[in-house]
Amino acid sequence: MPQKEQPIEPIQISALNQYVFCPRRCALMYVDGIWHDNEHTALGTMLHDRSDAPGYETDGDVKVLRALPLYSFRYGLSGKADIVEIRRGEPTPVEYKKGRRRRFENDDVQLCAQAFCLEEMYRTEVPSGYIYHAASKRRREVLFDWRLRAETERAIAAVRELMATKRIPPAVLAPRCDGCSLRVSCLPEITGVVKASIYEDYRRMIWAE
Ligand code: SF4
Repeated sequence: MPQKEQPIEPIQISALNQYVFCPRRCALMYVDGIWHDNEHTALGTMLHDRSDAPGYETDGDVKVLRALPLYSFRYGLSGKADIVEIRRGEPTPVEYKKGRRRRFENDDVQLCAQAFCLEEMYRTEVPSGYIYHAASKRRREVLFDWRLRAETERAIAAVRELMATKRIPPAVLAPRCDGCSLRVSCLPEITGVVKASIYEDYRRMIWAE
């Protein structure tokens, strides 16, 4: 008798966004359970509070679903879409972000993972979605081409690996650290330097033998 396939342990779609932004931040949040708010995260939460109330409305021939739970058995994903617009039975995800209209790779990967879920749930193809930028009140269309799909699959595999090994990647001090709410726990200036010096001490010890 064939063995029943075991479902994959789902990872959260939001973890993909964090991983693409910074693997260490993703591990601190989803492996160590560390969280701090700053002005950026607080504004993001306020924005999502408005779209987080589940429900739906119709606008002409478009049905607008809010806070739709998402899953994919194929990719082992779970999460929630801020908005899904349904036109003639075809779903289009819309994700709310607080900043101005500008492309961020991590947001595009998150939206593409939502499309993976919708394709499985609605048994259809989802060619594109939108990021709604609250600061400029404008939408940006995101095409789910093969490059973005491949990038999203790589991010899914990397986050799954991170969760399995529970390894916290080293800090890499970069401009993105300036807006990072976890900087107070990560301490990239210190942890990066300490790690490097420990490694150098270890190397000296090995070579001295
Ligand atoms: S401070 Fe920098 S290295 Fe540390 S988690 Fe944030 S973005 Fe990553």
